[in-house]
Amino acid sequence: MKTLIKNGIIVNNGQQFRGHILIDGDTIAYVGGDMPDTQGVTNIIDAENQYVTPGVIDGHVHFREPGLTHKADFESESKAAVAGGVTSFLDMPNVVPQTTTNQLINERIELATQKSVANFGFYLGATNNNIEEIRKADITMVCGIKVFMGSSTGNMLVDENNTLEQIFAESPCPITVHCEDEQIIKANIASFKERFGDKGVLPSHHPLIRTAEACYKSTAKAIELSHKYGTRLHIAHLSTAAELALLEDRPMSEKTVTAETCPHYLFFDSNNYETLGYRIKCNPAIKSPADRQALLLALNTNKIDTIATDHAPHQPSEKFGETYFTSASGIPSVQFSLLAMLELCRNKQTDIETVVRKMCHAPADLYHIAKRGYLQSGYKADIAIVDINKPQAITADTVLSKCKWSPFEGHTFSATVTHTFVNGNLVYHNGEFVSDKKGEALRFNR
Ligand SMILES: [Zn+2]
Repeated sequence: MKTLIKNGIIVNNGQQFRGHILIDGDTIAYVGGDMPDTQGVTNIIDAENQYVTPGVIDGHVHFREPGLTHKADFESESKAAVAGGVTSFLDMPNVVPQTTTNQLINERIELATQKSVANFGFYLGATNNNIEEIRKADITMVCGIKVFMGSSTGNMLVDENNTLEQIFAESPCPITVHCEDEQIIKANIASFKERFGDKGVLPSHHPLIRTAEACYKSTAKAIELSHKYGTRLHIAHLSTAAELALLEDRPMSEKTVTAETCPHYLFFDSNNYETLGYRIKCNPAIKSPADRQALLLALNTNKIDTIATDHAPHQPSEKFGETYFTSASGIPSVQFSLLAMLELCRNKQTDIETVVRKMCHAPADLYHIAKRGYLQSGYKADIAIVDINKPQAITADTVLSKCKWSPFEGHTFSATVTHTFVNGNLVYHNGEFVSDKKGEALRFNR
């Protein structure tokens, strides 16, 4: 089956041009400014005045399956992803049971194959005692090793120094780290409890408990270990200006240490706690306006390599507890990450070529994902079409994630995702799921 996308504004490889894309089966057969041979084409999409981009590859999500499916599952969250132009996701190991063995990786691949409409890959979680599993990971099927160097939801903390050194020395694939120093956070929690009592701690205290200092100390340590062992390291969800000083402003291909940030650190800052409260409570915390500004500037340099969501849904009953301590951390955002980034383009804080590079190209390069992430002949046809002049008001009803809430509720994005192709199948079109074809397990070319 052949599909022609014609007259779109194609954004790819740092350029944009008016052109056409021919999809043959699951593959891109042609991309260019001249009209290709349309013999055998059964579906023609006129993308006049619309942006055509590679499908977004979200390198950091928590889709909660197995074990936490009251919060989210592969079906609900992959649909939210595809509705937002995201065609592939890399899922974190803090599910139940935690993904800390290769057997459990295979079981998640099996589950996602049955349920996910987007393509998928999984991280193997490091613990204080699974170095054997890390050693024997199949690096063509495991996207990376996830190390929590600080506490977070799921409690997969690696806090034994020898183990940490061993993981950095022996990991067969890139390590992604969650960096927040546990001791600093614990001390801050104790001090805030003492000053304000259990019920007096506020959402706005979150960045004063999970501080920039906690991030910096842990990130510096991870980078030190990477230098010591020559380990390929990716810093997840960068949230501070201070940490930027630890990073190099060089093309990704020349670096051993790379970094990710998330739309919520670019879109919100500590001023938003007053109105959004626990809706924007996440780990690491959203920090000061100065941090946000520094991250926005760094986005347009080579200091920040990728944008991922850290999509982390919780049910309202878990998210909006009685106190700070009973309100879960995590923001669902996979459905709105591309739209949020396009909003920053509209505000001239970045440009669409950079957004496509950091959300599509760079994750494909970083994880060595085979034949995806670019609009290129011979590559898999993972494609999003975005109407930048079709506003979309976000309400709880528009949220496809199982949790049914979003920090973007009440906001109107200026753009709308109109079509999403996954492996050549038009899965999503103008608010409807028009195919139930499932996604594929990603392959990593290492
Ligand atoms: Zn995460």
